[in-house]
Amino acid sequence: MFSFSSFLATLFFLEFLTAALGHFQLPIQHVLELGLPPLTLRSQATGFNFDLEKALPPASSTRTPLRSVLSTDGSCATFHGPGKECTANMEVVSLLFEDCGSQFRVCRCSDANMTLDTAVDRLARVPIGLRRFIGDVMVLGGVTHAYTDLASGDIHFFGDAQMDTWIHEASHAFDFALPKSPHSSSVPWNTALSRDSCATDDYALSNRVEAFAQASVMNIYILLHSGHTPPGFQSSCMSNQLAFLNELQLYNVTRLFGNTCAINDLLHARRVQGPAVLDATRTFQTVPLDPPLRTSAALANPLFNFRYGKSIWKWSGVMLSSFMFTAVCIL
Ligand SMILES: [Zn+2]
Repeated sequence: MFSFSSFLATLFFLEFLTAALGHFQLPIQHVLELGLPPLTLRSQATGFNFDLEKALPPASSTRTPLRSVLSTDGSCATFHGPGKECTANMEVVSLLFEDCGSQFRVCRCSDANMTLDTAVDRLARVPIGLRRFIGDVMVLGGVTHAYTDLASGDIHFFGDAQMDTWIHEASHAFDFALPKSPHSSSVPWNTALSRDSCATDDYALSNRVEAFAQASVMNIYILLHSGHTPPGFQSSCMSNQLAFLNELQLYNVTRLFGNTCAINDLLHARRVQGPAVLDATRTFQTVPLDPPLRTSAALANPLFNFRYGKSIWKWSGVMLSSFMFTAVCIL
């Protein structure tokens, strides 16, 4: 028997993505602890082999140290201290990007692999239309992985999380901006999955939520590269997934890659105040295509494959309406 309290939860989505070694990464186990069934689609690759960092221009920002936040604000303090994610010192800064009047916050543990400059640079490269859904950003040490608190949009990055991981996690924050009706739970998204024959990669096969986030990364790559998929990938076998995404207001390129987070699209973004001054030069521009892979067999080479993972779902705090989600909550 399900109690009413079992409906209430904070949604956590935890996933371990990769351990980076130079240009490739070591596989770690792919485990789903709970919840949604894996997909039966064909995977196009064991992971993503492209780098979005150069394709995404960073927004400049100004930083303000926040020294008192640890004692007054739970979002960072909760994860700082003995036995917590950060046992070393934690540096907290407020960021004001040139394309948004609402401040962002980055909490960096002093033993983190990414420097503060690196973390701020990668956050700054997340397109503003997507960045506005992100809550606080935690930057931590350890094996490379990341997770998103789906209720708050807070993202925790461990190790040296690459740009596609930042886009992937931000896409979760967007997907669950309305926690009771995520896009990845919608009938059209699941219809799209049922009509397609492939997903982006192995990680997308975890479930429809991961497929959404990975397809979001792929779609942003395609938008930046004049409609071309990354080398070694095809769009035809996942055309319904891409068509679904491009029907969403988020992927309007003028706004997604624009110069302001003040977008009145009713998507429940967390940062919606426009900057004091709009930079007219921050407009959408495509980038040169990546060179093709030398052989079609290259993707089968594990040295080309970047992402592996395991995911753990924890649910507490958000009212979930479907029986399936309720079952997930009490497992
Ligand atoms: Zn994910």
